[in-house]
Amino acid sequence: MTTAHASIDGALLAQSRALIRSLQTPEGAYPASPTFSAYAGYCWFRDGSFIADGMSAVGEVESAESFFTWCSDVVLRYKDDIMAAVKGAASGTPLPNASMLPARFTFDGGRGADEWWDFQLDGFGTWLWALEQHCARHGANPAPFADAVALTVDYLASSWERPCFDWWEEHDEHVHVSTLGCVGAGLQAAARLGTLDPTRASLASETAATIRAHILSEGVSDGHLVKWIGTSAVDGSLSALISPLGFIDPLSDVAASTMRAIDADLTVDNGVHRFVDDTFFGGGQWPLLSCFAGLAKLAMGDRPAAQASLAWAASAATSDLALPEQVGAHLLAPDRRAEWVERWGSVATPLLWAHGMILRLAKELDR
Ligand code: BGC
Repeated sequence: MTTAHASIDGALLAQSRALIRSLQTPEGAYPASPTFSAYAGYCWFRDGSFIADGMSAVGEVESAESFFTWCSDVVLRYKDDIMAAVKGAASGTPLPNASMLPARFTFDGGRGADEWWDFQLDGFGTWLWALEQHCARHGANPAPFADAVALTVDYLASSWERPCFDWWEEHDEHVHVSTLGCVGAGLQAAARLGTLDPTRASLASETAATIRAHILSEGVSDGHLVKWIGTSAVDGSLSALISPLGFIDPLSDVAASTMRAIDADLTVDNGVHRFVDDTFFGGGQWPLLSCFAGLAKLAMGDRPAAQASLAWAASAATSDLALPEQVGAHLLAPDRRAEWVERWGSVATPLLWAHGMILRLAKELDR
């Protein structure tokens, strides 16, 4: 990296941290993107957990813990719904998707009045994972989160096999491998946290092991992880299972094949697309996904590739150092861009989880 690049990255990292800190709400929620029409006013468990992980990694202990408190408050608030979901699953009458927990909540923990593709399981695993990472990294005390962790474990252990919307809030008819990975990583982390009673700790670790075995037997085609059970296509989110989630061994053949497939099918000049059929805002490249690819490649020992991913993600920043959700330099479906701009306005910028993950990748490269 040249000196000019290094100083641009330094300013971008400082701005990422300041931006996330300044936008975090008094309740601890991280807005996904403060002014983007479709996201304003909501915090996602998925986005927020990765943002908290990035903030924790760079030493923003208070910010991360205040997000975990928000997660815990939300989970406890929906305790009755969670227990109904667990009971329904146990008695063979699972709740309808609409009665399961949504992917996003208003800052005060409400469900919000807007229609959304709500039933998604991944974020509830990701918060458990991020919490445990944080406690391990900083020696933080997990005890205040114990009740919410236990409830989340029960919820995920009862429902992980259900089809639900994926990271991209699509295809609730499928079981998505990235979702399985987040749930598995969360359950494994919860078992390590030390707050669960022995029965629940076994439930968490045994379910995580079952999920990993299921991924490796049903979620692989041509040696690489797939987007959903039954397809042979990849998805840019799969690199997160290798790192930072660490649910798939970075030194395994499946990790190597997955990154080869993501590079071959979804990557142009280190900018990573979500999936080959993406038409959202024309299907551009997501800086966030380049950060995940960089983290996976670094965990696999390829430091130059990780640096190239970081450089590409940093190059996507606007002149005022805001990272967009996607950039339009290489579009998969250029003729589909305008309809989204008309519907929701220009691309979400800044996107906070892109800022969170650039912090995480840069920090990891520092080591
Ligand atoms: C993405 C989700 C994300 C949400 C908020 C959606 O367009 O598909 O992955 O959680 O935006 O950032």
